[in-house]
Amino acid sequence: LVSREHRRERSVVEVRGVPIGPQTVTLIAGPCAVETPEQTLQAAQMARAAGAALMRGGAYKPRTSPYAFQGLGERGLRILAEVRDEIGMPVVTEVVSTEHVDAVAACADMLQIGTRNMQNFPLLQAVGAAGKPVLLKRGMNATIEEWLMAAEYIAQRGNLDIVLCERGIRTFETATRNTLDISAVPVAQRLSHLPVIVDPSHSGGRRELVLPLSRAAIVAGADGVIVDVHPRPEIALCDGPQALVDEDLHELAGAVADLARYM
Ligand code: PEP
Repeated sequence: LVSREHRRERSVVEVRGVPIGPQTVTLIAGPCAVETPEQTLQAAQMARAAGAALMRGGAYKPRTSPYAFQGLGERGLRILAEVRDEIGMPVVTEVVSTEHVDAVAACADMLQIGTRNMQNFPLLQAVGAAGKPVLLKRGMNATIEEWLMAAEYIAQRGNLDIVLCERGIRTFETATRNTLDISAVPVAQRLSHLPVIVDPSHSGGRRELVLPLSRAAIVAGADGVIVDVHPRPEIALCDGPQALVDEDLHELAGAVADLARYM
């Protein structure tokens, strides 16, 4: 269903009126985690002022350590919904468990499946049936073929509004958090009609890598980038070192707009 054999033309996925796909380079920005109403609103204002089309923010955080901040859960969803209504930007947020799908779908415009859940097949089927577009991140240990098969699980439930997101894979290299697989962009676009975006924040893991990795992604043909921002990264509860501050985000948005003109 997601292959080019099924559909020759590349697809555009609309998230509450915002197109993701060929002809546009969509900027998605927001906090890694929803921490407080103030922090979420400030991050959303940063995203909007820089010209981002969608806002991101995690209420349920799948953390490697059970002792790390796990997200605000339902309270975080309520904060996201309030900020969305105030700012007027569509929201993408992660869902980590089948039992949360309905609640997340009720407040979000797009459901995110994170790298750790890319092969959680019951969860893929549940989001496929939830009636909202899905952002499917590539598993950090998954081949492109496995990633596309994960998308098939969603599509099989009647939902072809799927955006693929390359977010780095595990390699021997430790200089970056994960290794951004730039080749995944043209390869996935050749095999599948779905839009492909890149997450330079979670792949690089460091603020100073976000701009060069975004540039590389767009030149490789990515249909958008999704980045972490925070009003005060030094006190962020999750992934502060990779969060952009206001001026970084403006520089990034300018670079995205410049490159998008040539693509
Ligand atoms: C995220 O985007 O908040 C996230 C946890 O990303 P990933 O699943 O790619 O690690």
